[in-house]
Amino acid sequence: MGAITTGLNVQAIREDFPILKTLVHNKPLVYFDNAASTQKPKIVLDTEYHYYSSQYANIHRGVHYLSQIGTELYEKTRHIVKDFIGANSEREIIFTKGTTNSINLLAYSWSSAFLKPGDEILITGMEHHSNIVPWQLACQRHGATLKVVPLQEDGSINIDEVKNMISEKTRLFSFTYVSNALGTINPVKEMTAIAHQAGAHVLIDAAQAIQHIAINVQELNCDFLAFSGHKIYGPTGTGILYGKEALLDAMPPFEGGGDMIKDVKFEQTSFNELPFKFEAGTPNIAGTIALGTAIEYVEKIGLDNIFAYEEELLKYGTEQLQQINGLTIYGNSIHKSSVLSFLLDGAHPYDVGVILDHLGIAIRTGHHCTQPIMDYFCIPGTCRASIAFYNTKEEIDLLVTGIQRASKMLL
Ligand code: PLP
Repeated sequence: MGAITTGLNVQAIREDFPILKTLVHNKPLVYFDNAASTQKPKIVLDTEYHYYSSQYANIHRGVHYLSQIGTELYEKTRHIVKDFIGANSEREIIFTKGTTNSINLLAYSWSSAFLKPGDEILITGMEHHSNIVPWQLACQRHGATLKVVPLQEDGSINIDEVKNMISEKTRLFSFTYVSNALGTINPVKEMTAIAHQAGAHVLIDAAQAIQHIAINVQELNCDFLAFSGHKIYGPTGTGILYGKEALLDAMPPFEGGGDMIKDVKFEQTSFNELPFKFEAGTPNIAGTIALGTAIEYVEKIGLDNIFAYEEELLKYGTEQLQQINGLTIYGNSIHKSSVLSFLLDGAHPYDVGVILDHLGIAIRTGHHCTQPIMDYFCIPGTCRASIAFYNTKEEIDLLVTGIQRASKMLL
């Protein structure tokens, strides 16, 4: 087994994640379910603990000391996110509960402002359900049509097909940066440019990209971008919707309530300015503050270092898995990130998952909230091992041994 050649000190990084010392069925945990959610470094856990134990109060509009501290910390995360994704201003950073919530916000609010009967929304055949269903609902509400760029055998889409399917009727092209089920990395900058040429807006679902690939929204020139805190080593229930200020300004509020208003009368209400117009009610304050810590942690390691390391691990894992008899890998695009989706001929993915679990190895089995992908390949689901920067080649070797064992037991 060759040593990893990229510059991460993975053993030191692993020390930052207390859960990696857990025993599962008396075996050291091997955690390969990172696409579903990533584990949390101690510094993120400490941030939440510290906030609740010595800084906690509700934020915004409080004159007292703790409320002001909380507000400062909360707004600091907005600043961190703004710099992290290269947005123009904090007004373009909306705090949400996660990617799903960000997309639903848009599907309601953007559609109210921009979607008319006869219009079209374009997505791709590799979208997560959360980038399909909200648009189906929006199309039903507004008399629009949802169109889908078909998937290809290797798990990519054909850019010429995108050009064919976009028309002057297309109001929005919404697509994932990285497929959670196949690992495909889409050419998002090119897709954005094609959409803009046709006059459509662009939403990038970055749920599976933000933790692997350095993103600059101004360079990509996307109109909107969504991601979840829990996939980038932060808390659940936190997330981001980035939007260009002019577009967010043109959109009506999503939810009504406290914080999103300027002035309330029974006859009429005026709304707060951006970003607060979209942030009704008391948010996940501690989680959002800890999301800032998670992003700073990732930035310290460096996304380019992370990408290079994970790419090497993915290449190694792919080579090893390809040597297992009867194993098929789904998702073979040349541009790929961190996901090994596979099936063993004649074995149900669930059974493979259970056997691996007994060896302490956590993978995910099923349709991964991408049923149309499974339908395309005519399979019920896959086994998915997904990689983070705390994983190692030794863990890939354990996975391979585990799959071989499952193969012997099941076939
Ligand atoms: N989009 C993609 C590509 C995902 O992988 C996921 C989660 O797995 C989501 C959207 C939804 O994210 P969340 O459940 O955090 O809202």
